[in-house]
Amino acid sequence: YNPELIRNISIIAHIDHGKTTLVDRILEMTHSVEERKMKEQFMDSMELERERGITIKSKPVKIYYDSDDGNTYEINIIDTPGHVDFTYEVSRSLAACEGAVLLVDASQGVEAQTVTNTYLALENDLEIIGVINKIDLPNSNPEETILEINDLVGIDTDDISKLSAKTGEGVHDLLEKIVRTVPSPVSKGSSDDKLKALIFDAEYDKYKGVIIYTRIFSGSIKKGDTIKLMAKDTSYEVSEVGIFHPELQETEDLTAGEVGYIIAGIKDIEEANVGDTITLQSNPTDKRLPGYKESKPMVYAGLYPGVPKYYEELRKALEKLKLNDAALTFTAEHSPAMGFGFRCGFLGLLHMDIVRERLQREFEIAVILTAPSVVYKTKLKSGEMLEVTNPSEFPSNDSIDEIYEPYAKLDIITPPDYMGNLMNLSQVEKRGEFKSVSNAGKDRVVLHFEIPIADLIFDYFDKMKAISRGYASMDYEYIDYRKSNLEKITILVNKETVDALSFIEHESKAYETSRKIVDKLSDLIPKHQFEIPIQAYSHGKIIARSTIKALRKDVLAKCYGGDITRKMKLLNKQKEGKKKMREIGSVSIPQDAFLAILKIN
Ligand code: GDP
Repeated sequence: YNPELIRNISIIAHIDHGKTTLVDRILEMTHSVEERKMKEQFMDSMELERERGITIKSKPVKIYYDSDDGNTYEINIIDTPGHVDFTYEVSRSLAACEGAVLLVDASQGVEAQTVTNTYLALENDLEIIGVINKIDLPNSNPEETILEINDLVGIDTDDISKLSAKTGEGVHDLLEKIVRTVPSPVSKGSSDDKLKALIFDAEYDKYKGVIIYTRIFSGSIKKGDTIKLMAKDTSYEVSEVGIFHPELQETEDLTAGEVGYIIAGIKDIEEANVGDTITLQSNPTDKRLPGYKESKPMVYAGLYPGVPKYYEELRKALEKLKLNDAALTFTAEHSPAMGFGFRCGFLGLLHMDIVRERLQREFEIAVILTAPSVVYKTKLKSGEMLEVTNPSEFPSNDSIDEIYEPYAKLDIITPPDYMGNLMNLSQVEKRGEFKSVSNAGKDRVVLHFEIPIADLIFDYFDKMKAISRGYASMDYEYIDYRKSNLEKITILVNKETVDALSFIEHESKAYETSRKIVDKLSDLIPKHQFEIPIQAYSHGKIIARSTIKALRKDVLAKCYGGDITRKMKLLNKQKEGKKKMREIGSVSIPQDAFLAILKIN
């Protein structure tokens, strides 16, 4: 153990810019893994993550590097999640490091999220090494990319080096630069001080329970110690500590400056909060590491089994997912339209999508997901504050004094050609407020907006990509809650309120959205023997209306089912569910209708 020779780094890169390839190359050059095993071993993330090109959780890796200066350095490479939903996790992983390699694909240029993560690294006082990857590609444009990096994050153009993770050219130089310029962890704390260790990640193992990924800032820890997790003041006895080389390898102890894992009989991943500080029960520090935040869901949606009998199965699957996903929350709920299900909280839309897909793939459960909603804060006339995650539980407009909704800071990097359309999308279609524009290199601009998260989570990303033919990239970050002129719109079918169809909309779009929804519903609800009015209601008046004409007798046989049965080959379990009609008063509403309308606003 010589902390002078430890280097703790992260690699900041956009998806597909070559992070995995670079780490593979480093592992190979330092003979850390047999080549044959490389793919399975390093960053052996879930199949889904690989397909999507996102890594949410991957193990850190320790390598030993024989430097040109004659020393053997221990380099820990800590991975960071590659998606905007996980910004907090990224910041905690960076907090475990002294340096970061900013890796940019020379044929792609800098993407918005890379800029954000680089700023996070700067906030954590990391030494940043800029590198351009894929210089072997004939269409790569290293000089332009270097200018972009200089404009966006202020790294000197002369300090940015070039490499090819594929051929290995330049990788040796990068390793030399890491050991030369990234500080050792010595100045951050000593092994003689009280134990202070950061939890930067955690996973659940069937046999071992929760495995904490940690960076020791001061003191040391070994098997048999009783540790205290400071956020919730809980204690556990340590049964094993070790390092990632790259598979888990037990060691005697972990000491200041080192990165490794701790197993301490923790059963519930919610006990091991990312960002929390670990200390010793017998000799505790009184000062926690800075930056701890409790993770809070940003987006809620209802999750329902297609058919009531799969409710129990769904509950078990969610419990299993939760073992490894502290950010996922769920509580049972009942909706008159959908029956029994769960209200789930997610960090963002990608997180939500991942949960849905894992339920489908790993547990073979088809679920119906209702439209996602942000968390609104309402101040009632009685003075009481109420948080609402489900539009159908929104208090009536008359009882509300003020409504607040979450806003985000949105950054978009784009070639200037698409600027006009992106401004239009963000400001006109999406209620965003333009803040400023700046240049990045010769061919790109950065647009800054502030925008309601409710508008961002629907289809902003897809629209932005379509408008810019894939060239623009975005990143957003929650800023605050702002007072907003929102209203609850209630839908009446045949004069009866249907709770599951209520939605929240901004005053300026209330008419337009209501119009679309009543029209859509009149398409989706089959004709009955009587005329059915469909109405949207807000602030004491009907703001949109459409009518389903009464049925003529001779077509009765054909009408039921027709459109509803067509798409059903896909998912068997869901099929049973969709056939069901919900009886609302005297009107039968197909479940499809509940879902289709949720997609409109
Ligand atoms: P990650 O998503 O950042 O981990 O990216 P990967 O390492 O998976 O790389 C994405 C793609 O770029 C893969 O097809 C790699 O083979 C390719 N790639 C990575 N580095 C280089 C490089 O230096 N040159 C070339 N030509 N291709 C590369």
